[in-house]
Amino acid sequence: MDIKSPYLHPEYETLSREEISKLQTSRLQETIKRCLQVPFYAQKFKEMGIRPEDIASPEDIRKLPFTTKQDLRDTYPFGLAAVPLSDCVRLHSSSGTTGNPTVILHTQNDLDEWANQVARNLWMVGLRPDDVFQNSSGYGMFTGGLGFQYGAERMGMLTVPAAAGNSLRQIKFIKDFGTTAIHAVPSYLTRLYEVMQEQGVDPRKDTNLRVFAIGAEPHSEEQRKRIENMFGVKAYNSFGMSEMCGPGVGFECQEQNGLHFWEDYYIVEIVNPETLEPVPDGEIGELVLTTLRREAMPLIRYRTRDLTRVLGRSCPCGRNHVRIDRMKGRSDDMIVLRGVNIFPIQIEKILMTFPELASNYLITLSTDNDNDNMTVEVELAEMFTDDYARLHSLTKNLTRALKDEILLTPIVKLVPKGSLPVSEGKAVRVVDKRKVYQ
Ligand code: ADP
Ligand code: ZN
Repeated sequence: MDIKSPYLHPEYETLSREEISKLQTSRLQETIKRCLQVPFYAQKFKEMGIRPEDIASPEDIRKLPFTTKQDLRDTYPFGLAAVPLSDCVRLHSSSGTTGNPTVILHTQNDLDEWANQVARNLWMVGLRPDDVFQNSSGYGMFTGGLGFQYGAERMGMLTVPAAAGNSLRQIKFIKDFGTTAIHAVPSYLTRLYEVMQEQGVDPRKDTNLRVFAIGAEPHSEEQRKRIENMFGVKAYNSFGMSEMCGPGVGFECQEQNGLHFWEDYYIVEIVNPETLEPVPDGEIGELVLTTLRREAMPLIRYRTRDLTRVLGRSCPCGRNHVRIDRMKGRSDDMIVLRGVNIFPIQIEKILMTFPELASNYLITLSTDNDNDNMTVEVELAEMFTDDYARLHSLTKNLTRALKDEILLTPIVKLVPKGSLPVSEGKAVRVVDKRKVYQ
């Protein structure tokens, strides 16, 4: 294994399971001590009779209380700080996809560790200081901007803070600066490819691109393969969330067999969202994360609402940090239509298997004549909107394939390429216009 980066405590990357367990135990004790500075946690620990010395193994985490997004909102903005504000040097706020934003504080050490985490990931997928890294993600409060910026710089790469959008400028940077790696949301990369096609730019011949970091939004394995085949570039899944720092929490290695979640930084649990009991490896449940290094705002058993499962705890790459499956979606992204539970990613998976279709799609839920319906609009890869026979048979085949996957029949609409909205940040895949009966 190639772990020679001078920046990243490489010794932690290859710890055995036993060593991980030992390290987590002592770091969890330290975290509890830090949490005693937060009245919210101090009170809960007191009520539950928890002391740092009661923690004898990472499994003892089950004695601790959960933390929810609502707790962050209730204590907005600084109520969960474990250090004085004068020790904090930055704050970020979650993008508020699912409600009011929440604030996350960072000390200088937090920022340094975060940069180390991101740098570790970029090194893991084969990037080196002579690479040119273009960060085509939103900057500002969204952690994908500064998070990757500092991580890529820490690794020593020439880093281009291109930010999101403006595809013509992105393409110019890629060509002029010899960009070899890009970080972006997957939905944006498919759009960038379309603009390259319009501009007559062949990414294989006209660019030096070789690595993508894609993440921040759920995407299917099929979508990833599509992106890889479009550009001839390896695309690695990157998981992050503001509450844990931002990007860098979990990342795929070159085996591309799940996201290594860094267990020297977090304790990872998968629980049944109803009973809150742990589920066995391989079973889908809610991802729950505990920070082990964060100073400004440590979080205990944070309920992420992301649904996923453990794939394994060893890997041919030599890293034993737990491997987590790509996210199925957030529990609050789940569509319930006529009593059937559907995740948008199930629909995407099917769409991506049709080469006639482009990558942008929109799911609309509506109530028509007292019936709830789902309409799936998807862009065509080529313009054959005049060939009615072909359109008809494609619509029919697609409707059938979707029905097999989601168990109800959606209305399928094929639309010309470029006609659906593209967001600069995380893609909006579902619009719910249903009437709510109370
Ligand atoms: P917000 O919570 O407002 O969307 P964040 O930027 O903190 O703001 O988003 C974190 C969330 O983004 C995660 O909880 C998860 O739902 C989603 N996410 C991040 N990375 C990935 C990924 N690689 N795959 C799927 N979902 C992801
Ligand atoms: Zn691996």
